[in-house]
Amino acid sequence: MTSAPARVPAGFQTGFAVRPDLVVEAARADDVRAAVADAAGRGLPVRVHATGHGLPGAIAGGVLISTRRMDSVEVDPVRRTVRIGAGATWGRVVEAAAPHGLAPLNGSSPGVGAVSYTLGGGLSLLAREFGYAADHVRALDVVTADGTPRHVSPDSEPELFWGLRGGGHRLGVVTGMEIGLVRAGRLYGGSVAFDGGTRNGGHVIRRYLEWTRTVPDTLTSSLSALRYPDVPQLPQPMRGRYVLSVRVAYTGSTAEGERLVAPLRAIGPALTDSLREMPYAESHTVHNDPPFPHAYYGDSVVLGDLDTERAARVLELTGPRAPMMTVVQLNHLGGALAVRPAVDNAVPYRDAGFLLRLLSPLDGTDVASVRALYAEVTDVLAPLALGRSLNFSFGGGDRTEGFHDARTHQRLAGLVSRHDPASLFGGSYGVSRDGR
Ligand SMILES: Cc1cc2nc3c(=O)[nH]c(=O)nc-3n(C[C@H](O)[C@H](O)[C@H](O)COP(=O)(O)OP(=O)(O)OC[C@H]3O[C@@H](n4cnc5c(N)ncnc54)[C@H](O)[C@@H]3O)c2cc1C
Repeated sequence: MTSAPARVPAGFQTGFAVRPDLVVEAARADDVRAAVADAAGRGLPVRVHATGHGLPGAIAGGVLISTRRMDSVEVDPVRRTVRIGAGATWGRVVEAAAPHGLAPLNGSSPGVGAVSYTLGGGLSLLAREFGYAADHVRALDVVTADGTPRHVSPDSEPELFWGLRGGGHRLGVVTGMEIGLVRAGRLYGGSVAFDGGTRNGGHVIRRYLEWTRTVPDTLTSSLSALRYPDVPQLPQPMRGRYVLSVRVAYTGSTAEGERLVAPLRAIGPALTDSLREMPYAESHTVHNDPPFPHAYYGDSVVLGDLDTERAARVLELTGPRAPMMTVVQLNHLGGALAVRPAVDNAVPYRDAGFLLRLLSPLDGTDVASVRALYAEVTDVLAPLALGRSLNFSFGGGDRTEGFHDARTHQRLAGLVSRHDPASLFGGSYGVSRDGR
């Protein structure tokens, strides 16, 4: 273990100041135990950092435990499980599982930390076929606020086992996790992009929503809408254009995949079409998330359902005439996401039909202006809204309302007060970027 007053690890999110009193670079679980026990003894709040993709806001004071050196990944191909350290990224887990024809339930971006993603539920590329990543956790190791390392499984700590899977990050510092892998050596997927200009966006989203009502539970898809900047790094058809892309991942045969996406291709002329058979190790190309660190704010609305009128209104608000660049992502939910695992967990809103995510780069704008736009979007969606998604809140600070339904929230609050009565992990994150 190394600790220092000022060596703050670089993170993916650059929009919020990270200024702890002390940084602990943990190399093993015992370093985490010692850091938590020491912080608890001194009454200092504890924050955890793996890659910085999900930083909730500024960090002012306290102890920051960086887990990035705890990045072990050990696949057991016979049991079809992988044991990962707290700092492992999805890219490394995919790479280690692929030679065995196996895959984890990773998301769009290989740089995201696998542990925090899973604690927040984990919406994967194959979500509708296999459910939430949290549904596939076999066991966890966690250091709770009293400095005790606990092995958490259905038998040893059933209540923590329920809460850590989908309940989030306030129950302790997870030092490792064992998760189940699925058989997926290959997949049919990619994206097909359409010009969203001259009111074509409303047409594309209407056809997309109609299509989602026809596809089998084994097909997972999402739609993104954004105005691309006019920069030479982008493929020519995208530059400076408002583009709607449908992203697809399907483990069925390529012939069946081609048949299922035919109605999508019939929406209109495509700007680009990358739908194809691919090894699962290339699954990060389905979304092609930007890999470079930047400043962003983001929030989401979990929806029971979505009609075309409201969807089109959201595009009007967030499209080319919006006050700042805003990426809209609409995930089709349902399928296995609606099915509770054999050993229940704290993942909420199983009956949701869609998740609408908003993300805005913070260059040239400020958090208050972004929030004002998001409030307009939220108003449009309010009659269909169930809550918000824990994993897709970026820069929201301590604003946790809506992450869980009332019953789940109450049960989680009971767990937190039992294991962290002094609020070691749940205190204020300090002020956000614009002082709010
Ligand atoms: C580009 C991008 C793509 C994404 N794609 C998806 C996706 O496809 N599906 C999906 O579900 N989510 C996705 N997310 C959201 C992501 O899963 C969450 O933001 C997640 O919290 C990021 O974890 P991290 O370790 O990478 O980030 P960090 O910022 O390092 O961690 C986020 C928070 O998690 C907590 N935490 C971290 N490690 C631990 C630990 N060991 N124990 C306890 N708490 C811990 C801390 O509170 C920390 O502030 C994406 C995010 C981005 C930015």
